[in-house]
Amino acid sequence: MTIQYKSIKELNEMLNNKDISPTELLDETFQLIDEHKDLNAFVTLNKEGSYKAAKELDSKDAFSSLEGIPIAQKDLFCTKDILTTCGSKMLSNFVPPYTATAIENLEKAGCLSVGKTNMDEFAMGSSNETSFYGNVLNPWNKDFVPGGSSGGSAAAVAAGIVAAASGTDTGGSIRQPASLCGISGLKPTYGRISRWGMIAFASSLDQAGPMARTVEDCALLLNEMCSYDKKDTTSLNVEIPDFTHNLNNEIKNKKIGIVKEFDLSKLDQNVVKNFESSLDQLKKLGAEIVEVSIPNISLSVPTYYVIAPAECSSNLSRYDGVKYGFRTDNITDLENLYINSRTEGFGEEVKRRILIGTYVLSAGFYDAYYKKAQQVRRLIKNDFDNAFKEVDVIVSPTTRGPAFAAGSKSGDPIQMYLEDLFTIPANLAGLPAMSIPSGFENNMPLGLQIIGNHLDESTVLQVGHNFQVNTDFHNQNPSKGVS
Ligand code: GLN
Repeated sequence: MTIQYKSIKELNEMLNNKDISPTELLDETFQLIDEHKDLNAFVTLNKEGSYKAAKELDSKDAFSSLEGIPIAQKDLFCTKDILTTCGSKMLSNFVPPYTATAIENLEKAGCLSVGKTNMDEFAMGSSNETSFYGNVLNPWNKDFVPGGSSGGSAAAVAAGIVAAASGTDTGGSIRQPASLCGISGLKPTYGRISRWGMIAFASSLDQAGPMARTVEDCALLLNEMCSYDKKDTTSLNVEIPDFTHNLNNEIKNKKIGIVKEFDLSKLDQNVVKNFESSLDQLKKLGAEIVEVSIPNISLSVPTYYVIAPAECSSNLSRYDGVKYGFRTDNITDLENLYINSRTEGFGEEVKRRILIGTYVLSAGFYDAYYKKAQQVRRLIKNDFDNAFKEVDVIVSPTTRGPAFAAGSKSGDPIQMYLEDLFTIPANLAGLPAMSIPSGFENNMPLGLQIIGNHLDESTVLQVGHNFQVNTDFHNQNPSKGVS
């Protein structure tokens, strides 16, 4: 029996039919991890902890939806007594004394955390080429990147090693790798899932979310990941619906927006064709396609690349070689303890962001850059608020193209930053957005992005699920090739 490529739903059926026990599930999962070592998807395994949790479930007669399901956790979430590196040399010796709320919620629901997934350093990147632990490979073609920063999580799910993984998304890091690896991934509304225990990159944008093979599995995970958490001051104290509730309701008469200002003519024509056929599919399901205007959307990438580095430079100032994390051996005084620890502990992309962030926050430039960016961010949010008066969701391609060859963009930060052209607006506006598989170009997956109104994950999931049960893209996998 092989569990490879099974969804959470299918694994749950197997557990309930007694076809497999949680411990046996783990045996097979660790075997799959071993067989796919070359992907470099994991930084640390949690055999001891996950087997202990599995043994406690083995004697159960009935399994609730996530009980006994192996899951991979992005190495950005603090996990008690388990190395948590955030993809950086700076945290290569960091063993947190506590577990992030989002992960604790999943474990309370019975998920078995099998290990920590590789990622771009401090979640800065779109290709998983900035990790201190090396590149992650795309399971569909190992010469290509899996996307980033949650690339290890995306690759682990796409290779069928685990049915699900956690990710985080500051400017696209759940949706972009989900798209490039042919899986489903959801960034919820900012504040839906607690940020407590997530290593901070840009605090006003960071949000955790689920990555899985299907939309339905994402809904099951979201049900458990959300909670109001007093330990996170931006955690929303709002009702948490059952996100699976709406999934099967048809989307007839739903209004689906396409953004007038997204200039698709500059994209690869196959991506445009794929997007058009996704729109046809949604129309076939009875949805109405409506053009909406987000006049300031073209300012999203530059706005993000002021705000995110500003917050990063502030958040990362805590890594000084004194309190925890990496410390240089090269110390003659306090000043060079700081300088050398940071010089040796951070990679090139992280340093670039700290430099930009420090610059835009400095006296004399603050008003021209940081304050201006915050004002533009508000305009973008207002644009979305207006658009959502007319439509239920907004759709776009998730990325400008399929996965690209490793090394092809890493020397050109601007090209890399443009990878998130379609994903960044939802982060700036704090809105829920997901990517689902929508087809292939040259045997590499493409994704459709669905953006929802504030706190309306349910409609995003409903549209995604309806699309998915009427298409077969999510059932393809790298070992059978695209059929
Ligand atoms: N690729 C974007 C960046 O490098 C987004 C990363 C993310 O969402 N964590 O900042």
